[in-house]
Amino acid sequence: MMAPHRKSPNHIRELRERVQMLVRERLGGRVICTRCGATFSTYADKCDVDLDVRCPGFNVVDRVQMQAEKEVGLT
Ligand SMILES: [Zn+2]
Repeated sequence: MMAPHRKSPNHIRELRERVQMLVRERLGGRVICTRCGATFSTYADKCDVDLDVRCPGFNVVDRVQMQAEKEVGLT
C-alpha cells in the first residue's frame, strides 16, 4: 500500500480524477498511435491485443498523464 504524504485519500482521488479529465481533454479524439491508428478512446482495445509489444499509443498516454499529474501536484 502506498503511503501518501500529508494528503487525504479523498484529496488524492480528486486529483486522480482531475488528471484523468486533463488527459481526456488533451487526447480526446486524437489518433495517438500511428501503428494501429487508435485514438484515446479506442487504444485500450486496439493496442492491448498484442501484450508483448508495448503500443506507442500507450507511451503517449503515459507521457500526457505524467505531465498532468505534475500539474495537479499528484507527484
Ligand atoms: Zn497502437
